[in-house]
Amino acid sequence: MEIRIDYTVEYRDRRSACVTVRPDGSVRVLAGRMFSLAFLDEFVAKKAVWIIERQTFYARMSDFAPEVYLLGRRYEVVCVHGEGRRGVERDDAGGRLVVRAPEGAEERTLRRWFAAEAERELPRIFREEEERVLPLVRAKAPSVGVVGVRSFYGRCHTATGNIDLARMLIHAPEECVRAICCHELAHLVYKSHGARFKALLGRICPQADEATALLECRGCAPWEGR
Ligand SMILES: [Zn+2]
Repeated sequence: MEIRIDYTVEYRDRRSACVTVRPDGSVRVLAGRMFSLAFLDEFVAKKAVWIIERQTFYARMSDFAPEVYLLGRRYEVVCVHGEGRRGVERDDAGGRLVVRAPEGAEERTLRRWFAAEAERELPRIFREEEERVLPLVRAKAPSVGVVGVRSFYGRCHTATGNIDLARMLIHAPEECVRAICCHELAHLVYKSHGARFKALLGRICPQADEATALLECRGCAPWEGR
């Protein structure tokens, strides 16, 4: 069976020929002016297996994360390859995250961006809740850290007063993050989840039950859009 591969040729001042597959699946040959089209047809046919592998790879990559969530808001992921600075641009009006990265580095770039957002946004939300809640619970201000774990959303080291928030919370709706912050702040007063803990949490965060139930039920992973 002969596989026909469509390609475009760009002639250059060079002594060799090379073939590239673009992320949209199109095939381009850069060739010196001495090469005939018949030669290039054969040249491309010899590389058919490699070309189809690249096309399959790009077809898979293009939907590697069609949508993701930032604090509960859904964004479409759009990958842009090529020159320019690597990074992620947030387009709130268009509901898009534009990922600029070399081919194959899109997912890593997006994950790094989310990690940086988590480092910035989660402590900010925590400090807002802390400012509101601390006068009510009369506890000492804790330190807060963001940790890359899957086993919990928040953790309070009652002995040291350190609170950890899970990085994955960056995907969850903000009300859920606020509820987790309040839950951990309540642990500064009561270590266990007894009646007094529940009463305090109900006072400082009346919507805590619904918000944490939503989180328990869905987890953060579904908000990652995978
Ligand atoms: Zn707890």
